[in-house]
Amino acid sequence: EEYGRHQPVVQKDELLDGLLPSGIDEKSCLSRHESVLYHKELRYKPSSYLISRLRNYEALHKQCEPHTELYNRSVELIKSGQYNGSADCSYLVWISYSGLGNRMLTLASGFLYALLTNRVLLVDPGFNMAGLFCEPFPGVSWLIPPDFPLINQFSTFNQKSPHSYGYMVKNDIIGNSSILPPFIYLHLAHDYDDQDKLFFCDQEQSFLQKIPWLVMKTDNYFVPSLFLIPTFEQELGNLFPEKETVFYFLSRYLFHPTNSVWGLVKRYYQAYLAQADEKLGIQIRVLETGTGPYKYVLDQIINCTMTENLLPQINQSSEPIILNQSTKQRKTIAVLITSLSPGYSEEFRKMYWENPTVTGEIVSVYQPSQEEHQHSENLLHERKALAEMYLLSLSDKLVTSGWSTFGYVAQSLGGLKPWILYKPDQNRTAPNPPCGKATSLEPCFHAPPYYDCKKKTATDTSKIVPHVRHCEDVSWGLKLF
Ligand code: GDP
Repeated sequence: EEYGRHQPVVQKDELLDGLLPSGIDEKSCLSRHESVLYHKELRYKPSSYLISRLRNYEALHKQCEPHTELYNRSVELIKSGQYNGSADCSYLVWISYSGLGNRMLTLASGFLYALLTNRVLLVDPGFNMAGLFCEPFPGVSWLIPPDFPLINQFSTFNQKSPHSYGYMVKNDIIGNSSILPPFIYLHLAHDYDDQDKLFFCDQEQSFLQKIPWLVMKTDNYFVPSLFLIPTFEQELGNLFPEKETVFYFLSRYLFHPTNSVWGLVKRYYQAYLAQADEKLGIQIRVLETGTGPYKYVLDQIINCTMTENLLPQINQSSEPIILNQSTKQRKTIAVLITSLSPGYSEEFRKMYWENPTVTGEIVSVYQPSQEEHQHSENLLHERKALAEMYLLSLSDKLVTSGWSTFGYVAQSLGGLKPWILYKPDQNRTAPNPPCGKATSLEPCFHAPPYYDCKKKTATDTSKIVPHVRHCEDVSWGLKLF
């Protein structure tokens, strides 16, 4: 009898409990099928309502995809500038803007907004989007075609553009006219002002609902504030019964690395991480002017990982430690460090070479790339950045740098509550305590509005509902719990 013939074959669910659509060619995007072999099992089940809304979305996207009859008609509205208030398909155009971590957060936010408002999401390919991510929806493209009429204006849209919503409000353009514009630019970047922020009010939403084309530029994860808009509240509750799973599910649904990025992930994982008993990810993002390494940052990370028992203590005395029989089976810990600077991982590697650990664990330290500087226009640079976020998400435990969207993506994608390294003080001193464990998987919205749309006054938006509160790392930010 053949060995193992009657063993049950463990078939992991590639489609993540129905989150992913079936029927997409496997070879064109290996990560979609293989990621289940690397990630931990889903922490939560996606709600059946989320699954059915995603399938409906995919059908809508197919119906309204670029160069269909319906799309062409909607594009005509932009070209003619004439719009009488009825369009077959409405769209949300996402402009590629800012670093990769930021872009993943805003694309997920945009997709959720599109889902809530029955719009089709179209993605500006920017420099690298097509080389980083597979098409997420079956049989269609989410990329904006090169002949889209506004494509050359994307980089020039800003707060002062006459098509910007905030500008129109300030200049009373929409209130005074019965004619609706066929498209509106939404400026939701960190420097947006009070008028731009009206986007987060119910009344404005019911107006925007009539506009066939919304074009959005943002570098913020604005999902927490969508939960504060009464019209969306019920629907969001149905989609995400566990509030902290929004980016967790949306990132698993939307972001499948292309084969070349996936190769970077798999080769690195298999060569350096797979064999370890425990994998610890440490994401080091130093928001300083120079490149470092800085001693105060290193001290902060060592302090955090030792006091939180994430890494073993070292024995600095000259007395050797004789391990008893039970600890002879030594645990191996692989530490994956990501950083623009090579200096921090060198110090960790040196520390665990020059000194034994007190309890006998074997610690190996790896850092995939040392890019020194951010180069968001360079495809290989961004492929490595994505591969590293993904590798971090495969850790058992994770330490991230506060404020960094790169770290947010790694944590949420992995379903991990990280230990967050708090941002150092102005005078380059490590904060005390150096880090704290996050209590939610979600990213932080760094620049939320503080406005009560009904009372038309300033308000602390972290006090409205129990599941939207301030972030652990950014005291004025908002986050889902
Ligand atoms: P944030 O600035 O930390 O919020 O994250 P972003 O991803 O939006 O922008 C930082 C960019 O710098 C990344 O997209 C990468 O291009 C680069 N970068 C920063 N940290 C790392 C790192 O640890 N590894 C790599 N490969 N790139 C990094």
